[in-house]
Amino acid sequence: MSELAVEKSVYDADAVRAQFPILHREVHGKPLVYLDNAASTQKPQVVIDALDDYYSRLNANVHRGVHRLSQEATDAYEYGRKAVGRLLGVDDDRQIVFTRGTTEAINLVAMSWGMANLGEGDEIVLSGMEHHSNIVPWQLVAQAKGAVIKVLPIGDDGAIVPGAAEDIIGPRTKLLGITHVSNALGTINPVRELADLAHAQGAVVLVDGAQAAPHVAIDVDALGADFYAISGHKIYAPTGIGALYGKAELLEAMPPWQGGGEMIRSVSFEKTTYAPIPAKFEAGTPHIAGAVGLGAAIDWLLDLGLDAVAAHEDALLAYATEQLLALPGVRIIGTAPHKAGVASFVVDGAHPHDIGTFLDMAGVAIRTGHHCAQPVMTHFGIPATARASFAAYNTRSDVDALIKALGRVIEVFAR
Ligand code: PMP
Repeated sequence: MSELAVEKSVYDADAVRAQFPILHREVHGKPLVYLDNAASTQKPQVVIDALDDYYSRLNANVHRGVHRLSQEATDAYEYGRKAVGRLLGVDDDRQIVFTRGTTEAINLVAMSWGMANLGEGDEIVLSGMEHHSNIVPWQLVAQAKGAVIKVLPIGDDGAIVPGAAEDIIGPRTKLLGITHVSNALGTINPVRELADLAHAQGAVVLVDGAQAAPHVAIDVDALGADFYAISGHKIYAPTGIGALYGKAELLEAMPPWQGGGEMIRSVSFEKTTYAPIPAKFEAGTPHIAGAVGLGAAIDWLLDLGLDAVAAHEDALLAYATEQLLALPGVRIIGTAPHKAGVASFVVDGAHPHDIGTFLDMAGVAIRTGHHCAQPVMTHFGIPATARASFAAYNTRSDVDALIKALGRVIEVFAR
């Protein structure tokens, strides 16, 4: 995007930034420039306050108590569920199950739906850019059930090879597992198109929304998602809380995957019956404070406006990409036409880990490594990338600080 277009935007990133206490600290005596948002975002004061308020005024166990605190804690917890529904375009909040995050949400589907519905020779189709959390749970089920994993290949731009899905998704496909946005490459996948192909074969579609939720307005029906998984900590909420959206008829037909309190209707040693959804999938005392913080974070993000946030981040990504490419020896990994939030790159002659360490000394936090997407690294024939990823509070000055520090790294390695 041109400089003019960025300046024209009314989005006030400095005002957003001012709401994040941690962004005012220094690292190695330098102002913190936080560009590791795809790994985890920082928390605004309203979320920190919501946690403080929960523990200061409301703390009690949910659902079981008749006393006032338990009822208020339950209301606050259930408010979080409604907020997730608003984020994902879901009215019936029985379809929102709280989990520890995306990883647990996918494991829930694999262990419950997968174990019950997959058999010998059934095919699970995944893309070549999946995070390990959308590969390994399916391998576990495939091994147990004799199912087969098929992979939608990615091309050198980091997008799924056009036409591949038509060949690979077929009558044996029982599940399509696809990331909405790739954490390693930034690619936004054509989820609806892929979901239509899968549904035409009678398959179920699970979407990994870990990286999409902070950047893209989501409507699970419009996307054609039967399951959609998110992590709170990537959308300005606490760690240890996330959610799974599942279509009611699927969740209702699925067996529980963890047993314990909260998930039962009645228990005897002879026979146990289960609670209705979503409680059937929420065994034990949940992360109540996390759900409260998630509700506050979603309210905050939706107030800011996901479209405005997305436009701001797109502009930053375009600016960062242009600036990175102007540096000698820099190659961007992931150049798909539709991208969100992520600039992954390698530099000739410099290992990504060395780049990360040098940048840290300049106060610039980026991530280096395989980003839990080793098949992506294998595809590009590299061990790792350096990755700068953007959030609602990042500014052009953050990008300038990254580029300046990286310029010095390149000078050192070029010597
Ligand atoms: N999928 C994607 C695309 C991710 O980026 C991540 C987190 N890096 C995950 C899944 C796993 O999320 P979590 O660790 O919060 O469960």
